[in-house]
Amino acid sequence: MVFTADAIAEPYGQKVFKKLQALNLNIEISKNNRIMGLRGKDERETYKIAKNTLAIVNAPPSAFNLRPIPPSADWQFHLAEGCPAHCQYCYLAGSLSGPPAIRVFANLPQILENTIKYERLHQLTSFEASCYTDPLSIEHLTGGLAETISHFAGRPQTHLRFVTKFANVDSLVTLEHGGNTRFRCSLNADVVARKLEGGTPGIAARLAGLRKMAQPKQMGGGGYPVGIVLAPIMPVPDWRIHYTKLLEDIEQHLDFDTDLTFELITHRFTPGSREVLMEWYPNTSLDFSENNRAIKRNKFGGHKYVFVKELMAELKKFFETELSRRFPKAKVLYWT
Ligand code: SF4
Repeated sequence: MVFTADAIAEPYGQKVFKKLQALNLNIEISKNNRIMGLRGKDERETYKIAKNTLAIVNAPPSAFNLRPIPPSADWQFHLAEGCPAHCQYCYLAGSLSGPPAIRVFANLPQILENTIKYERLHQLTSFEASCYTDPLSIEHLTGGLAETISHFAGRPQTHLRFVTKFANVDSLVTLEHGGNTRFRCSLNADVVARKLEGGTPGIAARLAGLRKMAQPKQMGGGGYPVGIVLAPIMPVPDWRIHYTKLLEDIEQHLDFDTDLTFELITHRFTPGSREVLMEWYPNTSLDFSENNRAIKRNKFGGHKYVFVKELMAELKKFFETELSRRFPKAKVLYWT
């Protein structure tokens, strides 16, 4: 754990400092605002050092110019960047550059205050907080997500969304959120999670966390609107059997009325993210070949590999049919 000089001077930085101190963690305070020593002798070693580094820094001025993030939300903002888990398809490989250290922003109160400028008058404005991190993965160390949920609870006409693969929801269950936060749980077939999602809680633990967050307050739950992000959907052998089991488990855990959405994302990669991931996980069993893949171009001239049309259609049909049968009241936000 390392704090930069500016970060330790921030009141929220101090709060995190005290939390880490109470956990008896080894803390360094840098004399300046640079985090040194993240590079190892090769990419593997750099990955190891960086993933084990939690740096508390101030977000740069550019973090205050919010960017839109369609179709997920109107705006994205960041409590932190990076994640301690080791998913072999991690989408951060294509969006964050440099060693994958975890950077927590000590100027979080200013970041939250800044979102107010982006609220539209008399209209709901949505904010996404998990583009560059899994915010629950570090919540026990920072408490930043609780601060964020509390901020949006006091802002009528706002909607906060985040997604997580983590399950340590107890500190969030009791919060007042005003119905303004949607807790989204990232799930996959157990066989995919076990093989590819290193350092994350298993599917059973995530489902238990989801249940707690979704249960009405009078049943002792958090009473949050919830969402399920099925990602990345992969046609592994016997995929119908594996995904059917997952949908059955979800049904069992959400056996009460709840405000529920689904987002369905098939596995995809860019040439750049593939290169980074192959360096981070040279022994991965993830299929990065171009078999069964089609190229999807974007308006900036880049491209990604998605599944071929026939396979996409087959997967889509399965999920659409199963979801409308099992969760008739839930809203499917998108398939991609
Ligand atoms: S939990 Fe999410 S952010 Fe963290 S390593 Fe896995 S895919 Fe990446």
